[in-house]
Amino acid sequence: MVRVLLVLILAGVRVLTAGVATDLAREFQAISLDPEVCYRVTDLNLAKEDIKVYLASGYLIFAKPVGGFRPGAVFVASADAGDADVLLLPPSRTERLSLATFTQFPNLEEHFKAAAFLFSDATAAELLARIDASSSAKKFPELGHVLVEQWNPMLRRLENTFETSLVHDALANDRKSGFFYMEVSGNQLGNFDLLYDPAIQEQIFVGNLAYRNNRAYFDSWSSFPSRSVRNGAAPPAPQAVLDDFRIDATIGEDLKMTAVTRARLTLKPTQAGPLRLSISPNMRVTEARIDGNPVEVFSRESLPSNVIAGAEEREFLLIPSSRLDPAKPHELEVHHEGGVIHQAGQGVYYVNSRGNWYPRMGLEFGNYDLTFRYPRNLTLVSAGGLVEDRTEGDWRITHRKTESPIRFAGFNLGDFQSASINENGYRIDVYANRHVEAALQPKGPLPQDEAPAAVIRPRRHDPRELLPDVMPALPPDPAGRLAQVEKDVVETLDFMTKEFGPPATRNLAITPIPAGFGQGFPGMVYLSTLAYLNPEQRPERLQTHYPETFYSELLEPHEIAHQWWGNLVIPASYRDEWLIESLSNYCALLLLEKNKGVKALNDVLDDYRNRLLSKTENGHTLESIGPITWGRRLQSSLAPDAWQVVAYQKGTWIIHMLRRQLGDENFYSLLRDVLNRYRLSPISTSQFRELAQAYTSPGSKDRALRNFFENWVDGTGIPAVKLSYSWSGGKLVGELSQTNAGDDFTALVPVEVQTARQKAVYWLPTGSDPVGFKIPISAPPTRVALLGSDCLMTISR
Ligand SMILES: [Zn+2]
Repeated sequence: MVRVLLVLILAGVRVLTAGVATDLAREFQAISLDPEVCYRVTDLNLAKEDIKVYLASGYLIFAKPVGGFRPGAVFVASADAGDADVLLLPPSRTERLSLATFTQFPNLEEHFKAAAFLFSDATAAELLARIDASSSAKKFPELGHVLVEQWNPMLRRLENTFETSLVHDALANDRKSGFFYMEVSGNQLGNFDLLYDPAIQEQIFVGNLAYRNNRAYFDSWSSFPSRSVRNGAAPPAPQAVLDDFRIDATIGEDLKMTAVTRARLTLKPTQAGPLRLSISPNMRVTEARIDGNPVEVFSRESLPSNVIAGAEEREFLLIPSSRLDPAKPHELEVHHEGGVIHQAGQGVYYVNSRGNWYPRMGLEFGNYDLTFRYPRNLTLVSAGGLVEDRTEGDWRITHRKTESPIRFAGFNLGDFQSASINENGYRIDVYANRHVEAALQPKGPLPQDEAPAAVIRPRRHDPRELLPDVMPALPPDPAGRLAQVEKDVVETLDFMTKEFGPPATRNLAITPIPAGFGQGFPGMVYLSTLAYLNPEQRPERLQTHYPETFYSELLEPHEIAHQWWGNLVIPASYRDEWLIESLSNYCALLLLEKNKGVKALNDVLDDYRNRLLSKTENGHTLESIGPITWGRRLQSSLAPDAWQVVAYQKGTWIIHMLRRQLGDENFYSLLRDVLNRYRLSPISTSQFRELAQAYTSPGSKDRALRNFFENWVDGTGIPAVKLSYSWSGGKLVGELSQTNAGDDFTALVPVEVQTARQKAVYWLPTGSDPVGFKIPISAPPTRVALLGSDCLMTISR
């Protein structure tokens, strides 16, 4: 569960019901510094795993206790020679690079004059014990009164961001697993945030809120597992799991959804305190029961107003009145309602909360039984096989059940036309809108960038900046191309099934979404309405700004490929999302190559290369912003486009280069191997590398692919490579030199050598210093050339 890491100005309205958590939350909201616990301190050290804080000279004031502990403090350096500093040394090369990208320095060593702390761990007790034991610390209640006035508003702002965690940790009553957060007002770096949270995947975090073109970004300067986890301590694991989902949802004429989600809840023996769940911010949880008994729901009404990373989920707590027995499963029941669907005009609907319209604890695989009741003139599509579909007065009732576990269930709603086909034991339903949404109508209103970011980020494609502003002359008819879309889907599914075996589910529904992107959910695909149109019906601006292949050839197979990549094999963490996206995208390219030949594939890759080499306003290429394994952290104030371009386009190149180095047979075997071994489980980038090693050729100069992953995956750089050679005495002697990439960048690049009798490709090393090679060939070559279509490089002459 990601704890919201934002320090924002929040809307203050809260409607809370009565209960122990609610009462506690009110106390936390009134968090206040305690003038009686204000000290003058010197040489006070504070360490939270990798975070080291040294308070050389100044005043330290603690918050009054709430929930049995003091949840915060403020440090202010003394006016004369006061000082303090914070030190953080990232443990890996890529994390030092990340920190340097944002701060210019690979290590954080920052002096500061003031810092506000918020914590649910034992920080206050530890510091107070040290202050008590020290002879130099003195109480300063007079100054305390001044600091209370100055700093209480700031502390309350921080409290607002962390309120759910504070309430949870107070009720769990375990100071050992609490979090530690500080907002620092640095002398050089300005304001930034540091977090140690043992409950999240990467326990150490440093970053700041940055603005670019009036948009807020939460920049992650560095993030990594804490020292003790690196040294072998157990990383955090989910304390509770939900499975066997049964959801009954009613969608009214006004599109408001009212739903009851039931699920089987299993607890780890170590689980303690409230249960943490999350749901779309567009949903409100109204009540909950466990084993039929009402439980308190704690859900903050106010959410950060800026929809940026982390603010896309509403986290809520369930507080059972007595401890739940971890030895047996429990029945969870959550009632929730909200607006997760809206009108896009012309009878077209947009589902804005696709993966989080129901409560979740994580993204584990589970079975789903879904019943929807909705206006009878509409059609509702979701994952699973159809159990029942009937009308009852003004209502239509559709009941579906999954036959194998899926990671999350989506649904779509519309006044659809559809076509169905049974193919090789699979049922495929393709749905199309009867009209295009208002934004695509001639003289229609311009589309608004109103859609909140999806929570299930891995499957999101979002060229929304390319949504049309030039309208086609005639209203396009999305249903007119229904038969073609169906034919394409069947072909894609046949191709993928032949290569990779059965997909995640036996039912696949293709449904339109009035947006520029697609999302491949298990058993159900959201496909941009633009993909339903013939190219000439698409707005002109799209035709010139985006390669036609994107909507015509790639989006549909990419989303269908997610039935394997992302729904059968899942990314181990945000650092591995690129792998799933790139494999999906590459599968789409394989199909393109099969249908249109290798030139079509190479044209797309050329386009990707140009995009990767395009420059930000600071003169850096998009590719150079950071390694692909930074994942969504690449989407920062430095270059908001970088994640999209690097994950999809460089990622696709990485998979393509791997294919060319391994050869087709080995490459396909590798992909099948990944699907077999990691079926219904997560895969990390390093696990992928370990599997890929088995498929390198014996003669390869990089058999373990260490170099390949270090440079292309964990590093950055698109080298400009120059080849020179001569032939004499039965030997081709030459040299490869490289510019435009870092000094430590080395890669194998493909050199094609042709003689009258044969053609061969050699993968040869390059480096910042020229690297020589010798290849014995008996006859003079007719052609020796770098193969730019097989490697992400530019060729210098
Ligand atoms: Zn995708």
